[in-house]
Amino acid sequence: MAYSYDPQNIFARILRGEIPNKTVLETPHTLAFHDIAPQAPVHVLVIPKGPYVTYDHFARDASEAEIVDFHRAVAQICAMTGVQPGEGGEGFRAITNAGTHGVQEVPHFHLHILGGRVMGRMVAKAE
Ligand code: AMP
Repeated sequence: MAYSYDPQNIFARILRGEIPNKTVLETPHTLAFHDIAPQAPVHVLVIPKGPYVTYDHFARDASEAEIVDFHRAVAQICAMTGVQPGEGGEGFRAITNAGTHGVQEVPHFHLHILGGRVMGRMVAKAE
């Protein structure tokens, strides 16, 4: 399947420096920044710098260097924000929304790291 990446999406514009962000961490292939409308005391978005639409797109087409860099950045962010359950933190939830059923708003792959409170149910009950 061919993914069509929209280079005008808001995270592409953040990566080009066209709009500001509150950066938490930048690595060679990854950028992490605070969500503009936080849903929890910790709400960080982690994005690859490459043009990937969804998690499965990234997992399929990104280089090994990009994939390793992204996941090591996630671990660093968990440490920096103090949410690591193995290191005295209270835990976190990682969410990535994809496509219509995933209710993805921004078509550039991003992982939400949410913490600082109990998150509640994983998903809403089906109607
Ligand atoms: P999703 O629904 O998974 O696509 O999530 C998109 C997320 O991007 C939402 O949580 C928004 O609050 C967040 N967001 C949108 N614009 C910005 C921005 N300029 N800076 C930081 N976060 C943003």
